[in-house]
Amino acid sequence: MEVDKKCLVADRVRSQGSESALYWNWKTVLVDPSLISSFQELQSLLENIQVSEASDRWCWSSNSAGIFSVKAVKRLLKAEFDYENRFIMDWCKWIPAKCNIHAWRSEMDKIPTGAALKKRNVQLGDSLCPLCSSVEETSEHIFIACHVASIIRNGISSWCKIPNIFAFSIKDLFGIHKELRASDKKKDAVQGIIMIVCWSIWRARNNVIFSNKAIKVGSIISDVKALGFLWFVNRSKYKELGWSEWCSFVNM
Ligand SMILES: [Zn+2]
Repeated sequence: MEVDKKCLVADRVRSQGSESALYWNWKTVLVDPSLISSFQELQSLLENIQVSEASDRWCWSSNSAGIFSVKAVKRLLKAEFDYENRFIMDWCKWIPAKCNIHAWRSEMDKIPTGAALKKRNVQLGDSLCPLCSSVEETSEHIFIACHVASIIRNGISSWCKIPNIFAFSIKDLFGIHKELRASDKKKDAVQGIIMIVCWSIWRARNNVIFSNKAIKVGSIISDVKALGFLWFVNRSKYKELGWSEWCSFVNM
């Protein structure tokens, strides 16, 4: 409706002292009822607007001072996120950092599985799970859904004398030790053992791909027992535990 499409706000809103007056320059007289109602709406919006004599400037609207700062941007960006449901992994103190980091990355789906590589356009033939060759390999599959992983979990459960480990997600898996009705020592041991299981499955999976070695559930479980013992006895506060006690999982 404006005649001069390049006019400035200052051409239409003029201030004198604390009073502002509006100067319109429409193409036609307003007769259309919908235009009139829009115009009334506009006037009510402009009612309390004061235009100062100062020259124009940029204003950062997300803080009250109107001044831009990196801190203000950071606060604005963070306000958008909901951190309520984020998973905070409990670090296991008696296993090495490499196992903790592997567990942490697995939960975030940040390990180079077939599906992850395919997503990043890394061509490696098929992206099937090297353990079962039937489903696309994701971290959720290889540690939770894969039947090889579930056989290993059953073996570990019976060794540790705990109910069969059922998990629907990696997050569940790393929280199972907390639900056990057992001593702190046993909970501590089971937490680390579950992480070693994931790490050992990943190592066995790499051996299938890179060294053409067949998967042997029994040897994965033996690896978990042996590495677990080595680390538990040397790195935890329970140094008095013997190998036979560890193997039969007693005095835990
Ligand atoms: Zn599988």
